[in-house]
Amino acid sequence: MKKLIQTIAVAAMMTLVIVSCKKNQETITDEPQATVKNADKVLQYIKDLGFPAESIVDNGSEFVVEEDILFPKDMVVPFVTEGPKTEQYYTGSIVNSTKKLNIRVFIDPSMTSMTSEINSGIAQWNAVPNSTLRFNVVTAAPYDILIKDENLGSGTCGQGQFPSGGSAGALIKINKSYIAGNSFAQRARTICHEFGHCISFRHTNWSARGESTATNVPGVTGTDALSLMNGGQCNSGATVLSQKDKDATAALY
Ligand SMILES: [Zn+2]
Repeated sequence: MKKLIQTIAVAAMMTLVIVSCKKNQETITDEPQATVKNADKVLQYIKDLGFPAESIVDNGSEFVVEEDILFPKDMVVPFVTEGPKTEQYYTGSIVNSTKKLNIRVFIDPSMTSMTSEINSGIAQWNAVPNSTLRFNVVTAAPYDILIKDENLGSGTCGQGQFPSGGSAGALIKINKSYIAGNSFAQRARTICHEFGHCISFRHTNWSARGESTATNVPGVTGTDALSLMNGGQCNSGATVLSQKDKDATAALY
């Protein structure tokens, strides 16, 4: 798969070179076709993860599932060796043992006004006992997660990606103007929650919300009203990681 992507990337670069050498001719590129093909694979991957087709929203450059989970159409789809994987894939899709030690977060200029909230959210994950997971803010590339402002309309406070290929989910979008009127603790909660998706957490209350079946983290079962990873609770949910949130983090990381 990686090889195929590399091949496509090289082909696209060569096309660019060729096009730039023939300014008077019509631009021809095979890139759009390649993107469409990858999008089909991403769509299948989302279905294989157990999300029903009707829960998947095509948002142009990405698919959105359960309102705040993003799958970019150009993502590298993890190689599945045997048949479709359902929810079990989530626990297999965590940040790997090397990368979890230093997950680099780059704050887009559009989000620097909420740097304090971002630092607060990060500090909660970094302080979990018996976990070696660490987020670190960096001021230049390379980085693992980009956090930026985007108008997500009314009702959605933020969106995050799941990990893939051993890397943390690469993008967090925060509906900055929408949450601007919330308290500091609630703004930080939204950001902390999206970071949780980037390290593979599903919504703790997935069942009550009618979301697709999620797998329990080993040893940490059941519902949890105090979980910061409960979904659909922007500006009303927990502002600190619950004991179970911490136990789950320690179990995975
Ligand atoms: Zn969420």
